[in-house]
Amino acid sequence: MVALIRRRQACGNGCGGEAQRANDQLITMRITDVRALWLSAPLEQPIGGSSRKKTWFNRQAVLVEVHTDEDLVGIGEVFTTVPEVALVAVSKFYQPLLLGENPLDIERLWEKMYFGAGYSGVKGVMIEALSGIDIALWDLRGKVENRPVWQLLPSSSRPLSPAPLPAYAAGGFWAPLADTLAEITGYVAHGFASVKMKVGLGIEEDGQRIAAVRQTIGNDVKLMIDANCGYTADQAIALGKRVEEHNVYWFEEPVLVEDWDGYKKVRESLSMKIAGGEGEYTRWGFRELIGRGCVDIAQPDVMRCGGLTESVKIAQIAAQHNVAYAPHVFCSIVGLAASLHLAAVAPSFEIFEFDMTPNPLRTHLAKTPIEVKDSRVSVPNGAGLGIELDDDALARYMVVRA
Ligand code: CA
Repeated sequence: MVALIRRRQACGNGCGGEAQRANDQLITMRITDVRALWLSAPLEQPIGGSSRKKTWFNRQAVLVEVHTDEDLVGIGEVFTTVPEVALVAVSKFYQPLLLGENPLDIERLWEKMYFGAGYSGVKGVMIEALSGIDIALWDLRGKVENRPVWQLLPSSSRPLSPAPLPAYAAGGFWAPLADTLAEITGYVAHGFASVKMKVGLGIEEDGQRIAAVRQTIGNDVKLMIDANCGYTADQAIALGKRVEEHNVYWFEEPVLVEDWDGYKKVRESLSMKIAGGEGEYTRWGFRELIGRGCVDIAQPDVMRCGGLTESVKIAQIAAQHNVAYAPHVFCSIVGLAASLHLAAVAPSFEIFEFDMTPNPLRTHLAKTPIEVKDSRVSVPNGAGLGIELDDDALARYMVVRA
């Protein structure tokens, strides 16, 4: 840090933001290690998946640490369904590519990682691992400049100071109907103006559950449904038509993530908005999903689709096509913070997904939690992602540090 502090003093008050950044680029800071942390937190009460097919007994996360010779550490998160593989991708494949590099040269390092993985890195776990590293690099840069990440991200619509962002409660995973109604009623009582429930149990049962939820929450609360790819296009259209009278705001992931034609057919057949993209990767994947007219609302996951560097570009593509940006967020507090920084600068940002299902990695991993108040969530304003992890909690949930 000494070299950096001396340079900043030399710069004095006369340096503007760009000059400061250029100045920082000159610093001979080097990456000394890149590590992956697999965390797992058991749940007191297991939660159902989007259908009866899955039950969650714990919540997991893969965090990334980028270490430097300046005693600064950047933190990121990987969103993946294969944590074992992501650990190897981070610590065995990308780590050697990054050792000795200047961590502030983020765009070049993104390219080095992306093209370093070749055809194997176009989609899937390699991009997920890259995403976590990219987020850690942005956290590090924010810590170097002592500024929040939202101030550093390239954007045509960056506010001077972001107002708290509108958020919806994401929950309603499979449970007996009475439990689902009690859960969603709780979100409305909490102050949420929008709620999302899972569907995918079959058209008849979904139709009954959606009707019951609408009747319970009344007409003033926005209701979204999420099938997690559980239907064919024709089934999704049948469900959509059946529940149109219940004023469903959006229908999320109606069909398989790879079925772009199915998405388009569903969107052209229904009056409600179609959302999707949590399983899509990079600007090239979103160029197809958005450019082919599959969705009204794009839902990139910053921890999966290529990190903050790539999400900025995806947000631009969405805005160019008049597609709303509503990020997918189902993770620890690290990924939650990264998603907030990006949402603050996305030109067509509409609403933030706030996962309200139990997750100690969201509520207990950092010294200060991020919470929703009056259906809004604030963007952290500390340096970097603005998250300070609790070492005791980290040790408690650690499966392995690779
Ligand atoms: Ca979803």
